[in-house]
Amino acid sequence: MNNYGIDIWGENNFFIDGGKVRLNHACDPAIIDIVKRIEKEGYKGPLTLRFPHLIRKQINTLYSKFETSIKEYEYKGKFNAVFPLKVNQYPSFLQPLIKEAKDYNYGLEAGSKAELLIAMAYNNENAPITVNGFKDKEMIHLGFIAKQMGHDVTLTIEGLNELNTIIEVHKETKLSCPNIGLRVRLHSSGSGIWAKSGGIDSKFGLSSTEILDALEILEKNNMTQYLTMIHFHIGSSMNSIAPLKKALKESGHIYAELKNMGASNLKAINIGGGLAIEYSQFNRSRFYSLDEFANDVVYILKDIAKQKGVEEPDIFTESGRFIAANSTVLITPVLELYSSQLEIKNLRLKDTNPPLITELYDLYNDMTKKTALEFMHDSLEHMESLLTLFDLGYIDLQDRSNSEVLTHLIIKKAILILEVKDYTELKTIEKRIKEKYLLNFSIFQSLPDFWGINQEFPVMPLTHLDKTPTRSASLWDITCDSDGEIEFDNNKPLYLHDINLKEEEYYLAFFNVGAYQDTMGIQHNLFSHPTQINVSFKDDEYFLEKILPAQSILDILDDIDYDSNEIKEIFKDKLDSNTYKVLEKYLYDNSYLNTIGN
Ligand SMILES: *Cc1c(COP(=O)(O)O)cnc(C)c1O
Repeated sequence: MNNYGIDIWGENNFFIDGGKVRLNHACDPAIIDIVKRIEKEGYKGPLTLRFPHLIRKQINTLYSKFETSIKEYEYKGKFNAVFPLKVNQYPSFLQPLIKEAKDYNYGLEAGSKAELLIAMAYNNENAPITVNGFKDKEMIHLGFIAKQMGHDVTLTIEGLNELNTIIEVHKETKLSCPNIGLRVRLHSSGSGIWAKSGGIDSKFGLSSTEILDALEILEKNNMTQYLTMIHFHIGSSMNSIAPLKKALKESGHIYAELKNMGASNLKAINIGGGLAIEYSQFNRSRFYSLDEFANDVVYILKDIAKQKGVEEPDIFTESGRFIAANSTVLITPVLELYSSQLEIKNLRLKDTNPPLITELYDLYNDMTKKTALEFMHDSLEHMESLLTLFDLGYIDLQDRSNSEVLTHLIIKKAILILEVKDYTELKTIEKRIKEKYLLNFSIFQSLPDFWGINQEFPVMPLTHLDKTPTRSASLWDITCDSDGEIEFDNNKPLYLHDINLKEEEYYLAFFNVGAYQDTMGIQHNLFSHPTQINVSFKDDEYFLEKILPAQSILDILDDIDYDSNEIKEIFKDKLDSNTYKVLEKYLYDNSYLNTIGN
């Protein structure tokens, strides 16, 4: 049976039982049942489901792997971690994270002024805040204010000008100075597709000359004691560990050299983010385990400290994708199967039909198990010929429609008769027999990384998992943009079920969408974020919390600076009051299609 690669990407968080995907937690609810309950409460369209227990699980995994390595190697430094806010800033994601973070003293990383203000307002007391990214004087001043509030804050400088600004603000405000980190520009770079965040050509960080300059500037201003951290980030989704090991050696030696040159309060190495997760449904793409990752970091840093005779540094990590991705599942109702209009009752045969149509009709009726494959191939050839005949004016629209209906009926019948068992079999049979599934969502809004960088996400139906899927599927969203499609790909084939949507419902779920997708989504065609819902557990019951409904149409128009009152006035003016009342209801609906679940 097709398990959609759940053993590769699922991390035991989900399992299939009785034909349904279930959550592997507490009362093991089927996701479809959670969806039904949400729809009963009146929410329609696509849904973003968040599972806070999975955020906790990831935080716990990260900390416990490092605790184990630290014990094993008798490492003297401490382990610390911060969550990089750019990965997901939605309160419905962040509030549960901050709650779970308390037990671990897990902090936050900010890369912009807005993110820093979130961290200053909500970070747990005593948990670290690190500040990366390009900073102006205002942002640096915010760092000082954060320190004044009592936060444990480290400003990581990306260039010497930022260091000079820190000194300026320190002198002007007389506020006590936050910790200072140096982001180093490594000559080794990462291995994922985001590898350009690290490396000698990187957008970020100081060269070795600039590092020496930085130390001199600090000494000259009597501020060397504020230098506490060395930072690097080699890019997102590292699929191999080798570049990290190189970067650790490089930065470890920089740390030790600086310490020996008099940076006496330097005590931490921040290894950035980049821990990968599995997105593929077919092959593993992360070639290291978390144990290996933690062991390598601890071992290499210990080794360098020993070699250079300095104390073992505290370790900071800023992995975001690893913490956030698998907490979130996107649910999209299937609205239509393209060929569902092509049923036998739609045939409009004439008394005399073109010979090829008659032949198609016979292929359909006479098909047996033995001839199914051959007839299916014949029908595809005939259909090609018939389309050409139409273009040349030899057959009419009615004939053309009959050819479409008959060809699809033949394909469906052949798949059924052939009792296709698995992917490879289907693949070898015929790749042209794709079915198009129309989904009630926007790829631009909900899977921006698929649109922008071809990131694949695991996808599977919520039900029917005890039946063999027989249709090779292309997925279409409801935007009016031809890029809003996930095409069938022979190398990563997606097979779905042949469903009669008049009789039953069918939902697809995209997994691992909790990192980067939420705030990177765009309102193309004015579709808002889906309705977001947190599913939390107490004993064996689950609860729906922090529900953030998809924005209403008026709300979205407001967002792009229309005056919603003016819009309402325009309609009020031009419509009678009864019609206006109906229209007003539509203005307060969301943009998604309203055909499922009501
Ligand atoms: C983006 C970013 C991260 C997070 O990277 P992930 O791949 O999500 O772990 C960490 N640190 C810095 C400096 C970043 O820019």
